[in-house]
Amino acid sequence: MNLIFLGAPGAGKGTQAERICKHLGIVSISTGNIIREALRNGTELGKKAKSYMDAGKLVPDEIVIDIIRERLKQDDCKNGFILDGFPRTVPQAEALDKMGVVIDKVIEIYVSDEKIMERMSGRRVCEICGASYHVEFKPPKNGVTCDYDGGKLVRRKDDEPETVKERLRVYHEQTEPLKDYYEKQGKLYIVEGQDKISDTTRYTIEVLES
Ligand code: AMP
Repeated sequence: MNLIFLGAPGAGKGTQAERICKHLGIVSISTGNIIREALRNGTELGKKAKSYMDAGKLVPDEIVIDIIRERLKQDDCKNGFILDGFPRTVPQAEALDKMGVVIDKVIEIYVSDEKIMERMSGRRVCEICGASYHVEFKPPKNGVTCDYDGGKLVRRKDDEPETVKERLRVYHEQTEPLKDYYEKQGKLYIVEGQDKISDTTRYTIEVLES
């Protein structure tokens, strides 16, 4: 199954993508994580993306389209994948269609802007692997460091309140039109993001099995 997870920053796409991937035995591909890894490794891609990302803006289409084109060629995508955070603009969605990638379902995880602002203040990521946590809703097992590698948990620079506001503005302006794009293809499903992570997962699985 090839899926796209849409939703505002902080709606829980990454968390749900991880859980649904385990359930379905497919891979999750996050352009945000790929870019953050490039930043940590100081690669050319990381250098090009940094200023956009820090300002809460989108990285130019051609850069992320190249990332996805290369990533989807890898063997682990053969059984299916979830695209988490791609496409984020209509030209990105058109590029995916032109690549001949067949998408089965597009799931929008809907959370209001007010709730997003609340949630983002508690979000933390692992400094080493980028795994995502929340101080209240998804704390690490030992309450302090990353479950996978013991890395320090830090706030993403782009999770500062002013940057989150800008990311929401960009989401409404550039990414929301994708709902129409996929609605017209008959592929759009909306899941209301719940306070409890496992509830959102349950509703998402119901939609996938429908
Ligand atoms: P995310 O982790 O998905 O919230 O992405 C973090 C940041 O990475 C975004 O605010 C953008 O600057 C950049 N980014 C990730 N995916 C894309 C995309 N598909 N198109 C453009 N920029 C992206």
